[in-house]
Amino acid sequence: MKLVTFSAGREERVGVVDGERGVVRDVTALLPPATGVLAVIEGWDELGPALRDGADGATAIPLDSVDLLAPIPAPRRNIFCVGKNYRDHAAEFGRSGYDSPSRSEDLPDRPIVFSKATTSVVGPGARIDPHPDVTRELDYEGELCVIIGRGGRGVSRDQAYDHVWGYTIVNDVTARDMQRDHKQWLLGKSLDTHCPMGPYAVTADEIVDVAGLRVRTTVNGEPRQDAPVKDLIFDIPELIATISAGISLLPGDLIATGTPAGVGIGFDPPKFLAAGDVIEVTITGLGTLSNHVG
Ligand code: MG
Repeated sequence: MKLVTFSAGREERVGVVDGERGVVRDVTALLPPATGVLAVIEGWDELGPALRDGADGATAIPLDSVDLLAPIPAPRRNIFCVGKNYRDHAAEFGRSGYDSPSRSEDLPDRPIVFSKATTSVVGPGARIDPHPDVTRELDYEGELCVIIGRGGRGVSRDQAYDHVWGYTIVNDVTARDMQRDHKQWLLGKSLDTHCPMGPYAVTADEIVDVAGLRVRTTVNGEPRQDAPVKDLIFDIPELIATISAGISLLPGDLIATGTPAGVGIGFDPPKFLAAGDVIEVTITGLGTLSNHVG
């Protein structure tokens, strides 16, 4: 099932995408009042079957006519993110000189986990603010994002997929100069509008082999990133085990798994984003997340 959050006037509504017919089924009326996608995931044992049974009878709206928001427009806490989690990207980042404070092409021994502020989240089609007052070196990072279903602490590798509700796409937009100059990544990763997410929250049962998915990013149609998820240095079970070892995971938590090689600072000279650029991140089975700088 592909869930979306869309706006109708000032109201947020929940939809189920019927890709074959190119429509969104407005399932808001099947849910308790004021239930967004986050609450749907939290109550999935009960609400999932209700949506499966009822969605086909819900009002159909053409998909291309609705204003999609991020599937989880307001996560309950920061998005967990993983740095340097594809070999070739770890090397390009080390070479670039922006890898502060470590500045190394070596592969990490353990997952590098940081976070993006919830206020950085925007939806598909939304504008990415270039923030020229605080950065001149804007970059993109196409990534597979895991959506946690069942929470828990001390989740083992073997149990990890039992805690995955599904997947979406994020663009981990980064102010490279801030990432380098402030030594710690939170500021450079968290500027408003710098976490485009979507277009859909896709349930795990739709993804037969997550390691077989490909992450592709284009800028103005020019291919920049293209790698299979199986190239992750630390795979999804390892990331869940690592984060949950001492932090309780909660339903709806988001884990951006890292970006492949081909970001702007991987080029010499770097290819930073500029006003008008269109960035499209496509992942097999998860759709295309398109945003523009402006
Ligand atoms: Mg990233």
